[in-house]
Amino acid sequence: MNETTGKVNLLGLTQPQLEAFFEQIGEKRFRAGQVMKWIHHFGVDDFDAMTNIGKALREKLKARAEIRGPEIVSEDISSDGTRKWVVRVASGSCVETVYIPQGGRGTLCVSSQAGCALDCSFCSTGKQGFNSNLTAAEVIGQVWIANKSFGTVPAKIDRAITNVVMMGMGEPLLNFDNVVAAMQIMMDDLGYGISKRKVTLSTSGVVPMIDELAKVIDVSLALSLHAPNDELRNELVPINRKYPLEVLLAACQRYISRLGEKRVLTIEYTLLRGVNDQPEHAAQMIELLADIPCKINLIPFNPFPHSGYERPSNNAIRRFQDILHKAGHNVTVRTTRGEDIDAACGQLVGQVLDRTRRSERYIAVRQLQAEPAGTPGLERS
Ligand code: SF4
Repeated sequence: MNETTGKVNLLGLTQPQLEAFFEQIGEKRFRAGQVMKWIHHFGVDDFDAMTNIGKALREKLKARAEIRGPEIVSEDISSDGTRKWVVRVASGSCVETVYIPQGGRGTLCVSSQAGCALDCSFCSTGKQGFNSNLTAAEVIGQVWIANKSFGTVPAKIDRAITNVVMMGMGEPLLNFDNVVAAMQIMMDDLGYGISKRKVTLSTSGVVPMIDELAKVIDVSLALSLHAPNDELRNELVPINRKYPLEVLLAACQRYISRLGEKRVLTIEYTLLRGVNDQPEHAAQMIELLADIPCKINLIPFNPFPHSGYERPSNNAIRRFQDILHKAGHNVTVRTTRGEDIDAACGQLVGQVLDRTRRSERYIAVRQLQAEPAGTPGLERS
């Protein structure tokens, strides 16, 4: 319920929730399917545009409900086809959504929180603290906005966004109910019809919620590992002090084995020069992941001002990949995309600032990025 308007926002309701809503207002449950199609297939936010719904019901809906996505603050398109939206959520903060086309695939990276409380040492979002959880409408609203930007014909929509990763700002498992509801809408044929294998939740390791997730949904799971031993991970990903690697990997293994069907865990590993990119770290990773069906995604660090970290050399990245490869792992190195619009991994900034301060920050970021090559901590990938 929107506290200002007193209306229910239908955008964030799953099919069963929408059916319950219609029942509650004395209408037939099948109306839920009709309205979901209008909202998610056709991007409609005006009840009067729903031509297969009679006038009386449309008036009733207008009095009690609304379809309200987050406010679009900006939309940028990179020369490589990457798109980035900055949207404002109800708390007043801004979050970012990024679309990355690659081959026949279009991946949307979605945010779950404004800011983040977990304070990973290399993360620009974590540096800004926690502001608010996004509502289910604000999470699915990012998919809704991106979809609409590609047109409103369902077939075309299907081609544009083929994969969603809950890998934007925030720790999705700390906004559990809203993220689960949004992912259910992503997978529903009346929503976006994306396969469960192509919706991925990425966590830094909130162990109890990994087990909870397995009870309610079967999306793919990614683990932001970033370090192959507890000592280093305690420093880089502080939640590791509460849930160390042994219990974390056991929880991931439980989740993956419940999925069956040869599903694997995705390991995300940000490579930081001289910190976690050495051959001994690769060797420790091999040992750590020996019994876990997984694929490994190496992410060369994208420096941001005052991060204190640097991107490894290309040789160091290749060496690290080779060691894992030779041990039989499926390893990819994430190529940097959308750099010209600050959409690369780790570059999502400014979400907990108000618009004025955010603009100042962007100017500051761009000025620092314009400094000569070799400036410590500012090497570009
Ligand atoms: S890496 Fe993820 S969990 Fe860690 S601070 Fe950043 S957004 Fe939060």
